[in-house]
Amino acid sequence: MPRITPATHCVAFDMFGSHLSISGSMVNALTEAVELGMDTVQVFTKNQQQWHTKPLDDGMTREWLSELTRLGWTDRVVSHAGYLSNLATPDDALWHKSIDLMTIEIERCEALSIPFLVHHPGAFTTSSREQGIERIALAYQGLLTRTKGMRTILCLEGTVGAGSQLGGTFEELAAVRARAINLTGAPERIGYCLDTCHMHAAGYDMRTRASANAALERFDSICGLSNLKAFHINDSKGPCGSHLDRHDHIGKGTIGGSLPDPTPEALRDCGFAAIVNHPRLRDVPKLLETPKGDDPDGRPWDSINLHMLRSLIDGSAKLPVPQPTQSPARTRPRNETKLAKKTPSPSKSGKKPALPKTSSKKKPAASPTRTVARTPSTAKNQTKSEKSRSRRPR
Ligand SMILES: [Zn+2]
Ligand SMILES: [Zn+2]
Repeated sequence: MPRITPATHCVAFDMFGSHLSISGSMVNALTEAVELGMDTVQVFTKNQQQWHTKPLDDGMTREWLSELTRLGWTDRVVSHAGYLSNLATPDDALWHKSIDLMTIEIERCEALSIPFLVHHPGAFTTSSREQGIERIALAYQGLLTRTKGMRTILCLEGTVGAGSQLGGTFEELAAVRARAINLTGAPERIGYCLDTCHMHAAGYDMRTRASANAALERFDSICGLSNLKAFHINDSKGPCGSHLDRHDHIGKGTIGGSLPDPTPEALRDCGFAAIVNHPRLRDVPKLLETPKGDDPDGRPWDSINLHMLRSLIDGSAKLPVPQPTQSPARTRPRNETKLAKKTPSPSKSGKKPALPKTSSKKKPAASPTRTVARTPSTAKNQTKSEKSRSRRPR
């Protein structure tokens, strides 16, 4: 498996990945993760903006499972649920529809050997926090009854806590889980996912190693670190306590000190270092949900951000800086630049930047390429795949 880290580099902490596109075929996300030197990956298993779900294609599922087994990744892939579900809603119709959709999400994870399904707890809208928490717990009761015997662990994601959104405090996350366990008796199927951007925006200061460690200690005492199944590693455009859900590249946001040109040395004492060096987070998948695309030098942002995180591991040798690679195996379709320029945000809300402005300025001719050995059947979907590569979760 190609790795950015040289063989001589003794990395004690692994399990780095990113949210990658499944467009074309599910297996494309695995291929891309391997080619970017990752240890795991996060995916949507269906279109995250649609209620409608096409059943999983048998051939595609077989291809995914065989690659997953070959890589030894059956214990680590994370799925992010779509955005339409709101398990906390007081609206009965929407609540039932949400449970139906989440049931499908769980069934798909089970079929694809994905052990972790991350989802946003939901928003209580016109009801109350307490009622919202009860609704989520009741939804879990239905979900875990329907999917009894399945292994997928539902992971409540910590949020920025904007408006009536639940999950902005550790206490709230713990209250949902406790009540859900109460109703289901299935603690083993209910976990958490944290997101550095969300934590910071929610008011847990992640700017220094000490403050981030303090936040993690607090999480441990309230929620239990052993229940943390996935960690989203993103910098935050909004300052601490802003309740703004805007992800940024590692070091460029307010966690890293809004550095125009972040270096591992400059981030040595920031919160990201606390996470990558935390002994109890070693086996927890750490996933980037930072903007996609390439930097002005044609290097994939995922490689740059991944390199940054790995370089923050204490005692790590100086890692080779990611380089753009020239490979005839994967030439980007011409219109991608246009797409990158014209589509400022692929997300539903339009609140997310698809690419940093700098990355769409110069590009192209010597277009950046990572080596991808795509099969002919997936190659024909490349344009679509490329188009949606910047889709990433919140
Ligand atoms: Zn987010
Ligand atoms: Zn999320």
